[in-house]
Amino acid sequence: MEDSRLEIECAHGKGIASIVCCHLLNFVDPVGFIENSSDPNDLQAWCFACEFLFQQEGEITDEFKTFNKAKVVCERCYAECKNTHSLK
Ligand SMILES: [Zn+2]
Ligand SMILES: [Zn+2]
Repeated sequence: MEDSRLEIECAHGKGIASIVCCHLLNFVDPVGFIENSSDPNDLQAWCFACEFLFQQEGEITDEFKTFNKAKVVCERCYAECKNTHSLK
């Protein structure tokens, strides 16, 4: 079995590459947390504002990419974002 997980080097050390939007990283107050993939080896999420724009655009457009500014983080950063931004 080939291990196709993408690993990255982060402040936490080596982690599994996960994708979050820039808002999840830059905002301290909860902005919502929409998971687009729950595959533990392919974690992807963005905030409510990104979800709203995505619905408007209907697909990943250049405008969306500019707004979303996806960043690659480790799975622990991803878990922290989820903790901070999940609205209950
Ligand atoms: Zn966002
Ligand atoms: Zn990290």
